[in-house]
Amino acid sequence: MRLSRYFLPILKENPREAEIVSHRLMLRAGMLRQQGQGSFSWLPMGKRVLDKVCNIIREEQDRAGAQEILMPTIQSAELWRESGRYDAYGKEMLRIQDRHDREMLFGPTNEEMVTDIFRSYVKSYKDLPLNLYHIQWKYRDEVRPRFGVMRSREFLMKDAYSFDIDFESARAAYYRMFVSYLRTFDRVGMKAIPMKADTGPIGGDLSHEFIILAETGESAVFCHRDFLSMDVPGVDVNYSDDASIAAIVDAWTTPYAATEEMHDEATWSAVSEGEQVSARGIEVGHIFHFGDKYSAPMGATVTGPDGKEHAVSMGSYGIGPSRLIAAIIEASHDENGIIWPEAVAPFDLSLINMKVGDAACDSACDDIYTQLTNAGVDVLYDDTDQRAGGKFATADLIGLPWQVIVGPRGVAAGEAEIKNRKTGERETLPLANVVARLR
Ligand code: ATP
Ligand code: MG
Ligand code: MG
Ligand code: MG
Repeated sequence: MRLSRYFLPILKENPREAEIVSHRLMLRAGMLRQQGQGSFSWLPMGKRVLDKVCNIIREEQDRAGAQEILMPTIQSAELWRESGRYDAYGKEMLRIQDRHDREMLFGPTNEEMVTDIFRSYVKSYKDLPLNLYHIQWKYRDEVRPRFGVMRSREFLMKDAYSFDIDFESARAAYYRMFVSYLRTFDRVGMKAIPMKADTGPIGGDLSHEFIILAETGESAVFCHRDFLSMDVPGVDVNYSDDASIAAIVDAWTTPYAATEEMHDEATWSAVSEGEQVSARGIEVGHIFHFGDKYSAPMGATVTGPDGKEHAVSMGSYGIGPSRLIAAIIEASHDENGIIWPEAVAPFDLSLINMKVGDAACDSACDDIYTQLTNAGVDVLYDDTDQRAGGKFATADLIGLPWQVIVGPRGVAAGEAEIKNRKTGERETLPLANVVARLR
């Protein structure tokens, strides 16, 4: 992509409304446009990151056996009356009427709708386990939308729903999602720590929030230092082996980890002080087993091996990709801008032509641009007539992992410079080697 043609509205000034660094940087780097209270458009640079993150989530959901669907954003109140949540949900639900005065709502979540899909088709335990997910906009009329896409009203969510014949298999389904979350957050370059979460009237211990540590996090969290160095399961993890999946979950739930609401001083004080991490955290994912809470009232039953009808045992599994992107920036930036982890970077590298119009620079850049692009590398080529200083500032702000810098003096010597955005390390190398080095 040539920057001269790219829709990238960079802001020079810090937007006053942005209180935290991720919000500031997302606006400044031309990723987002605020459209209203808690409502954002994703501009091309932001949309690229969103797509990368969603694709990683997708790959890890699929690997763990979930299947992607897409449900509507607008739902009927009728469905929510069946579960009893229409009245219970309160003011966070945006309620709407259609032209026939039918009561509708903009979905804050999809348990009811997916349960309706399930009950319409699945009748036998032989068709279980089943896990359906989608990545779709949600609307929650948050009292206090803030911090940009970290807590907005309309936001993207990946929500998965598992259906099983009994508690044992529902727990195995929960464990698969647990492991898939470990892999997902690791792949986007983040350490997310599973912390015990409130199960409310459901009871049991099958609810975890995945928390990224960050100063700007909304909740106080407490965990054992071991979490910071634990190995995440590799791509070869075997989801069809319940025992090995359970062993991973066991390892990841043994050291102490809890958010404020679940914090227990007595157990905490048993952790030696040097091992205690007490910090603030951002909830980027949440998994929850809730049994027959929806299947029983909504009549989602299957025939079991015993020939009897059983209300299916369910769980739900959410990730907020939009919030996750903000959390990534909170964790990965410096005073000059964003530092994208490679896996989610909107482009692989910035190619900076320091002197557009100089025949030698133009031709060297065109050459590198064409060859890298042909090799499948996503290049953002700064071919604008901005001054070099401004180009460097832009490149640092948008934070692509590598910068290739081509200037008249270097070109005359047959050389270019590459800079690693994260480490700041620079290297001068022959022009002819640039493509091989970065491909
Ligand atoms: P919070 O405690 O922050 O209000 P929640 O517990 O209400 O979040 P869940 O219902 O567990 O959220 O939804 C699953 C995921 O969706 C959350 O873990 C989070 O990543 C994301 N999410 C929830 N609310 C928002 C929001 N207002 N803006 C952006 N992402 C959100
Ligand atoms: Mg909430
Ligand atoms: Mg929460
Ligand atoms: Mg939650």
